[in-house]
Amino acid sequence: KLYNQLQDLKGNIRVYCRVRPFFGQVNNAGIVGSLEEGSISLIIPSKYGKEGKKIFNFNRVFGPTATQAEVFADMQPLIRSVLDGYNVCIFAYGQTGSGKTHTMSGPNDLTEESVGVNYRALRDLFLLSEQRKDTISYDIFVQMLEIYNDQVRDLLATDGSNKKYPSLTGSQNGINVPEANLVPVSSTSDVLNLMNLGQKNRAVSATAMNDRSSRSHSCLTVHVQGKDLTSGSHLRGSMHLVDLAGSERVDKSEVTGDRLKEAQHINKSLSALGDVISSLAHKQTHVPYRNSRLTQLLQDSLGGQAKTLMFVHISPEPDALGETLSTLKFAERVS
Ligand code: ADP
Ligand code: MG
Repeated sequence: KLYNQLQDLKGNIRVYCRVRPFFGQVNNAGIVGSLEEGSISLIIPSKYGKEGKKIFNFNRVFGPTATQAEVFADMQPLIRSVLDGYNVCIFAYGQTGSGKTHTMSGPNDLTEESVGVNYRALRDLFLLSEQRKDTISYDIFVQMLEIYNDQVRDLLATDGSNKKYPSLTGSQNGINVPEANLVPVSSTSDVLNLMNLGQKNRAVSATAMNDRSSRSHSCLTVHVQGKDLTSGSHLRGSMHLVDLAGSERVDKSEVTGDRLKEAQHINKSLSALGDVISSLAHKQTHVPYRNSRLTQLLQDSLGGQAKTLMFVHISPEPDALGETLSTLKFAERVS
């Protein structure tokens, strides 16, 4: 409750930053000059514009030693508000290799400590709905979608019964993509099974192109329906957990064909997302949702009473500085 009141004062958009560990020879923070709870400073060499120290502010900054549990703890109130009927969007943004998938899903070898936000969020929703079961009865469903080259794909489609490429017909009962498979879940093992299926479906198409996952957006959507057992009233909430395509700029002189097309779609959808969040953050009257499939898909969970968390990720290596700066500029624009 208190958190929601604070949110109302501060607006419904929060921007976090996570700096992953340095993978180079020397174990330090790399390019990061200093790192505090709400800001990060970089020492910028002249080749990137104005030389010197530059400070970027966030609602929260996580350094290389932050654990998955610490990161989740900070997002927990936001995630829990879904059970009160809010719509929530959480985006992981950053160049390929900066740690987006680590934050959202976890590393390849999952352990109790290393599981990411997606799993922790669902586990927490089950726990809280169990605690409330004498007053509210909840049903929880998930969908998993991928957007690649501006086309939506259902990662939970099973042969025959569902459409692999659902259309965006408009929201029905709060469900944005009614044609995509909607699976009821009631335990963490249900969730793990679905995540495995989604991963497998994603991998199938990755044969021709290596690591397509970094060039598509993936979205785990959680739908919650609650019934108040005393009054009989209903509530609905949803949460979109989005692992965005890598934000790195592709050198147009070096790629052609499919790779160029992919890059153009990624560019266009990430800047459309930036435009939408920035116009919401600055309370502009026109919000350009229609400019990409991604923002169209999430339209009714962005703006209004909905809560948004943009979680930008940066790599601390010196040779990532150019991309790091453009990620930090994106973050500045949406806050
Ligand atoms: P992205 O999804 O942005 O391309 P990944 O999440 O795949 O990046 O991260 C790249 C590599 O760095 C992976 O091996 C991942 O496990 C590791 N990594 C990323 N963030 C962290 C972190 N905070 N702590 C430890 N390892 C990390
Ligand atoms: Mg990834």
